Amino acid sequence: MTVHQVDHLIVGAGLAGVEAAVGIAEVAPGAQVTLLSAESEIPYDRPPLSKGLWTGAVPEPTHPELPLGATLLQGRRAVHLDPAGRRVTDDAGESWQYGRLLLATGGEPRRLADPAERVIHFRTLADYRRLRELTREDSRVIVIGGGFLGAELAAALTLTGRRVTLLMPEPGLGARVFPGDLSRHLATEFTGRGVEVRGGTTVTGVRPSGDGVVVEVAGGAAIAGELAVVAIGIEPSTGLASRAGLRVEDGIVVGRDLATSDARVYAAGDVARFPDAARGVMRRVEHEDHARHSGRQAGRNMAGAGEPYGHRPMFYGDLFDLGYEAVGDLDSRSRTVAAWRTPFREGVVFYIGDGVIRGILLWNTWNRVDRARDLLGAPAPPGSALPDLAGDGTP
Ligand SMILES: Cc1cc2nc3c(=O)[nH]c(=O)nc-3n(C[C@H](O)[C@H](O)[C@H](O)COP(=O)(O)OP(=O)(O)OC[C@H]3O[C@@H](n4cnc5c(N)ncnc54)[C@H](O)[C@@H]3O)c2cc1C
Repeated sequence: MTVHQVDHLIVGAGLAGVEAAVGIAEVAPGAQVTLLSAESEIPYDRPPLSKGLWTGAVPEPTHPELPLGATLLQGRRAVHLDPAGRRVTDDAGESWQYGRLLLATGGEPRRLADPAERVIHFRTLADYRRLRELTREDSRVIVIGGGFLGAELAAALTLTGRRVTLLMPEPGLGARVFPGDLSRHLATEFTGRGVEVRGGTTVTGVRPSGDGVVVEVAGGAAIAGELAVVAIGIEPSTGLASRAGLRVEDGIVVGRDLATSDARVYAAGDVARFPDAARGVMRRVEHEDHARHSGRQAGRNMAGAGEPYGHRPMFYGDLFDLGYEAVGDLDSRSRTVAAWRTPFREGVVFYIGDGVIRGILLWNTWNRVDRARDLLGAPAPPGSALPDLAGDGTP
């Protein structure tokens, strides 16, 4: 068996893995960095897969750049980790002895049991290409899941002329995140745009039917379409870490330096459960900004920087002509106070818990992210008074 010696090994070449390579190069220029990527594509950004690539705003997939000298092995999955021997084995039978290791393995889409062939559990560029190839204008596509991804895909597919049925158990879109009135309003807005929104619908199975699929839902109804797209969340890819005996609790547990329970092994991005210094809780974040910043920080620390990860991640999304940016914890069960300039079209929503501001949603409200970050953890104003977010007297 071939055994390669590398200073830094990165498993997973998504946003976090690539940024880690950049972070290593910043602190230790010239250090050897090897990335193992289970995907056969060169690294790419995922966010355009559910928005700009459909509308043409992003004409081609975009690719983050690896630093000079980093070695990327595509289509190579790490299958075994031996932390005591500091060794990773991949599915080509090669072994990698590392000085420091980063697990940036992201997550896998939650799957339906026994899905039919024309069902796409959407996550990758390959999934995007397949969805484009198998559908055309006028195709009836059934989107399962009304969270961030399902809502974005429903909007993007509708904008390209596909006929979309959107199924979700909740009454509105983004129900776990957006306040109830906004979530329900989005269902109405999507309906007005031509999406057949079926809230309160729980999918029990999908079976093949002719050239398409039939989605069965609780209560006995069946909905036919040419293809079903599943967007019901992800499970963090922790298998390698847990089999190796690293601490895993819905994510690979890391400290403030992003090191795991083994000091030579780090984790970042969607897969990492990290201490949120501002809130004093452990959490996992499945968003681009966190993947980039935690990846960069993990890389820097692998190379010896010894810096705590204290970034307050933001996230964003596009729904037809509506867009948002957000910071902190957006939990629709929290108390929320909204300041709408135009109801449900432009405004700011504050999420409040234990008397402090926990999260801020900027709805079609731009260039406020830094100020919003500063307000996280600040005492919530009494009643429905709102902080001056714009710095000009308006929230
Ligand atoms: C369609 C889509 C749209 C999105 N839009 C937004 C958005 O608008 N805003 C936002 O903030 N966030 C968005 N996100 C979320 C954001 O893209 C993710 O948070 C981010 O990509 C996570 O990066 P990551 O590197 O941690 O994980 P991933 O991107 O999942 O990368 C992990 C990589 O590791 C590989 N891997 C796993 N196991 C192994 C192994 N054993 N060996 C080798 N390789 C392995 C995987 O194949 C994968 O390529 C979106 C996500 C998707 C899917």
